[in-house]
Amino acid sequence: MLPYLNLALKQAARSRCRYRVGAVLVKGRRVLAHSSNRYRNSPGIDFKHATFHAEEALLRRVCPPRGSVVYVARINWAGAPMFARPCTRCQDTLAAHGVTLARYTTPTGPGLLRLA
Ligand SMILES: [Zn+2]
Repeated sequence: MLPYLNLALKQAARSRCRYRVGAVLVKGRRVLAHSSNRYRNSPGIDFKHATFHAEEALLRRVCPPRGSVVYVARINWAGAPMFARPCTRCQDTLAAHGVTLARYTTPTGPGLLRLA
């Protein structure tokens, strides 16, 4: 497992949401920000946007320099890594902020996604 992905797993373990996701933003060898997903508003108000995805929470903390890499991890109830490929909304937002690569957990090992 990649070291930064391990950090993302630790962030996921801190999430209080139903789907526990954590993310770490890295440029070079520096960790710029880390966050889990978090509640934003009641699902009764806006179900689709009831949480900040972990990636969105990162971008609320820092403005990433061009060429940053995001590491995203999701764990299940037992703490085992699950499929954590960023959703299309986060992919677009990350790409627009200059993040060029996403690495994410899957049950069978790390996945890689180039962001346009
Ligand atoms: Zn997302």
